[in-house]
Amino acid sequence: MPSPTFPPAVYQTLLAASGDDPQRRDLLGTPERAARAHADLFAGYTENPVALLRSAMEPNDPRHSGPVLLRNLSLYSHCEHHILPMDGVVHVAYRPGPWILGLSKIARAVAALAAQLQSQERLTREIADAINTAATPEGVLVACVARHHCMAHRGVRQTAADTVTLESRGSFLTDSAARQEILTLCRI
Ligand SMILES: [Zn+2]
Repeated sequence: MPSPTFPPAVYQTLLAASGDDPQRRDLLGTPERAARAHADLFAGYTENPVALLRSAMEPNDPRHSGPVLLRNLSLYSHCEHHILPMDGVVHVAYRPGPWILGLSKIARAVAALAAQLQSQERLTREIADAINTAATPEGVLVACVARHHCMAHRGVRQTAADTVTLESRGSFLTDSAARQEILTLCRI
C-alpha cells in the first residue's frame, strides 16, 4: 500500500500560526521535509501487523516448551491526544503453540502499530492481539514502558515519569508465576 501523503501547505499554515514567516529563506524547504517525515512516522496505517507476523512463521519444535522473550524493542509513537511523541521500550513474550515467530517480524509488527496515532494502552493491547491472532500461541505478554512528551515538556512537566502498561493473554493470564518470571527478566 502507498505511504500516506501530507500536503506541504499544512506545514506552511503551521509555520505561520507559530508566528514565523513561511517565506523566510531557511524555512522554504521545511514544509516538504516535514511532509516526508510525517509520511514516514505514520506509515503504520498502511501495514498489516498480522500479515507481517505470518510472513515468517515456522512450525514449533515440540521439544521447546519455554517462553520466548524479546526485550527492549525501541518504541517511538505519537499520542492521539496531542500528536506528541511517546518513546520507550516494548518487551514481547510468548509461549509458542503450533508456531514460532520470526523475531524481526515481531519488531516490525511493533513498529507498524507504533507508526500510528496511539494511546499506550491500545498499542500494548494491539501488539498482544496481533501475536495472538497470527500465531495462536499458548500465551502472550506485552509490556510497554514509555515516556510521554505531552506530560514531560508541557502541562504538568513530569520529565522523570514513565508509564508501564501490560497485556496478558492465555497462559500468562492464568499463570501468575509465569507472568512474574517474564516481568523479572524485563526488570519491571
Ligand atoms: Zn498526549
